[in-house]
Amino acid sequence: MSERKELLVQKFGGTSLADLRGFEASASVIAQYADRNRVIVVLSAVKGVTDLLLTAIDTAVEGGNGAEYLGQAIDRERAIIDALSEQGVATLLASAFLEEQQSTLTQRVEGIRLLGQCPDETRARILASGEGFSSRLMVDLLQHRGFRSEWCDTDVLPLANESWLDSLVDIEAAAPRLKKRLENDTQVLVLPGFYGRNGEGDIQLLGRNGTDYSAAVIAAAAGAGLCQIWKDVDGFFTADPRIVSNARCLDEVSYDEAMELTYFGAKVISAKALSPLAANNIPCEVRNTYDPSKPGTLIHSEARRTHVVRGISHLHDVASITLQGGGLRGRVGIARRVMDALASEAISILLIVQSSSEYSITLCVRKSDEKKACKALDEEFHFERLHGLIEEISVQSDRAVVSLVGEGMKHYRGIAARFLTAISSAGVNVEVIAQGSTECAIAVVVKGEDAQAATRACHTAFFSHSTHIDVILLGCGNVGSELLAQFQRQSGSLIKHHMDLRVRAIANSKKLLVSDDQLDLANWRESLDEQGREWTMGDVIAIRKKLGLLNPTIIDCTTDESIADEYVRFLSKGFNVVAANKKANTSSLAYYREIRETAAKNFRKFLYETNVGAGLPVIDTMQSLIRSGDELETFEGILSGSLSMIFGLLEDGMPLSQAVSEAMNMGFTEPDPRDDLCGMDVARKLLIIAREVGLQLELSDIAVEPVVPWELVGHLDQSELIEALQALDEEFSSRVAAAQTEGQVLRYVGRIENGRCSVSVESVPSRKPLGAIRDGENALVLLTHYYQPIPLVLRGYGAGAAVTASGVFGDILRTVWRPLDN
Ligand code: ADP
Ligand code: ASP
Ligand code: MG
Repeated sequence: MSERKELLVQKFGGTSLADLRGFEASASVIAQYADRNRVIVVLSAVKGVTDLLLTAIDTAVEGGNGAEYLGQAIDRERAIIDALSEQGVATLLASAFLEEQQSTLTQRVEGIRLLGQCPDETRARILASGEGFSSRLMVDLLQHRGFRSEWCDTDVLPLANESWLDSLVDIEAAAPRLKKRLENDTQVLVLPGFYGRNGEGDIQLLGRNGTDYSAAVIAAAAGAGLCQIWKDVDGFFTADPRIVSNARCLDEVSYDEAMELTYFGAKVISAKALSPLAANNIPCEVRNTYDPSKPGTLIHSEARRTHVVRGISHLHDVASITLQGGGLRGRVGIARRVMDALASEAISILLIVQSSSEYSITLCVRKSDEKKACKALDEEFHFERLHGLIEEISVQSDRAVVSLVGEGMKHYRGIAARFLTAISSAGVNVEVIAQGSTECAIAVVVKGEDAQAATRACHTAFFSHSTHIDVILLGCGNVGSELLAQFQRQSGSLIKHHMDLRVRAIANSKKLLVSDDQLDLANWRESLDEQGREWTMGDVIAIRKKLGLLNPTIIDCTTDESIADEYVRFLSKGFNVVAANKKANTSSLAYYREIRETAAKNFRKFLYETNVGAGLPVIDTMQSLIRSGDELETFEGILSGSLSMIFGLLEDGMPLSQAVSEAMNMGFTEPDPRDDLCGMDVARKLLIIAREVGLQLELSDIAVEPVVPWELVGHLDQSELIEALQALDEEFSSRVAAAQTEGQVLRYVGRIENGRCSVSVESVPSRKPLGAIRDGENALVLLTHYYQPIPLVLRGYGAGAAVTASGVFGDILRTVWRPLDN
């Protein structure tokens, strides 16, 4: 190799070597650099092969058919060779190796089955075979492409300790050997990763995911200017991209940050690989084999602190163990004894915290070490337990560690608060909190099943520049579907205002459709129909945790009482509730109060602006008045769009039956117009207004004079209604005529006076505010302590899907709350 060119070490992981396409993509990347640099390539096994070999061993130890898994591993490798042969690529090295391995590994696995055990030495030899294969295949491929490429055994990497499964490389001793190996004119030297050789030439592994470490020590020993880790992702992400769909690729991180992120689970580079890189100040790029044009992430010592927080990682399969008891208080050396006990069993402690009262110590270990750790602690503290100084040692299995990492954190206050707020906002309980003294990371222990929700919520809290509005829509009739259309039209303009509104779920009475990200609103109807599933309230409530939503809102666009009955549950589970449905606010006073108390206790919002006057700003206006000390004296209003229409038509001389039929045809009435004519809809609205101004009333306290007596029409089939109404045509025509002679018109009015509420047909002067209200318009006339003698009048179109949906939309925007600003 020519000495002038800079030395580069490239590592390709299993995800870059999954199949023929992976090998070809990797070879192309190598080819790109081989002209400019001297290149040492280190390879992992073909994706999944190490796991299969491990399963083969473990199955054989149990007396099972390990050969089956061995066969699967070899098949995977052979498939790539076969595909290459078809293209006329000679695979001499790899084919010969595979042939030889097939027979020796089969014998070894059979031996393990017969013995019922597998010595570590044999385990190391079997597991290393995957890297042996892939590295030889790459040499074949590079030679075919015309490069001077050579395979290099790992005897150039002498080991610093005697461990069959988790060795360290003696970098100083490796340096002269590697340099010697680089003296000839090879363009690309290819080594298997994951293992080295001891003084006797035996294979010793470097630990799971050890190829990153191989690359790091080779880079350190050979004095490389750069180490590259090639994977199937663009680089280091702010969180695992498989879990957080909008995770961002970082352009740089420091060694310490990378260490914390990977130590607690970010599968990007193994933590063990970072020390030799940091110690020798070798920059390391994480790049995408399948998209080499992307710059990737640079891990180096001069990473700029552009963000306070760099990323969030999570580690599954953790057990947390707690020692607790009065006997721990004030005793010196307890933590040391815990650590010693576990160290003597080679168990690594992921984190350890002691309560400030010194009453308990909690530590986390990997799940695979749980039993061994408990036994070691049991033995170590046998005396204390015997004498009651320590109570039981308690274990929480299936835990996860979620951690927030960033060197900038130490310069800012409130990061931990924001982290914990985000987690609790997602409804996740934090069991243990630990912050390292470097202040580069804060970690919490949560239930394993909650890790995803916690990670997503934290990512939103720290990395989202816009406010997320996550909605779940129940009911997609007129108003619901109009609302979805408005969302779709407005999404672009909301984004401009940094609001990211996402519809996470839609349900009608039969089906529920949930999306991990957001539903496509262009064809929600078909998707709901085709992909929706039958649902229960539990499914709706589960959405929040499942998706890790910080501040989700349930929108009730149904008229369903059973959904209204769930509001307390929704609010207590961390949802805001926006209701077009009036049933909750007109149910018992006790429930009315409970909803408000639950909302306050859980810091959630319950909004229902459209309950009265559709989109007119009624509730909000009244709340502002009352809160500023105003008091209602009297109220009168026309609160029904359909009756406003019907009574307008009566005024024009139309008979009642025809007016109802006309209003119905124009889509102004409820599907069954009797719901309007019986007056209960207006009564409910009046009750909501009355409760808003502080009257403690039930629905039964409202005096209701229906437009048409229920006894007359209640028993009929809907199709018979209009005909039946004809019986009243004459009576209504003469009432209208009588009113007209007095300069008055008939209106259906809701009234609050002296604490009493009534709804009835009234004759009102044409020139008074209510006299002019018709054609679907609503009006609310409030005479208050502040607004008199001229009342406050709110009037405007009070019916129809568009204005109602826009009122609901307004409520949704009022649920916006940013946990904390980044
Ligand atoms: P390889 O063996 O090829 O190096 P790994 O087995 O380490 O690959 O897995 C890489 C995967 O790790 C990626 O596909 C990605 O989904 C996942 N991953 C988890 N956390 C992160 C993160 N913070 N940044 C990037 N990738 C991550
Ligand atoms: N193949 C080994 C493993 O899966 C080493 C590596 O991929 O880095 O652990
Ligand atoms: Mg790997």
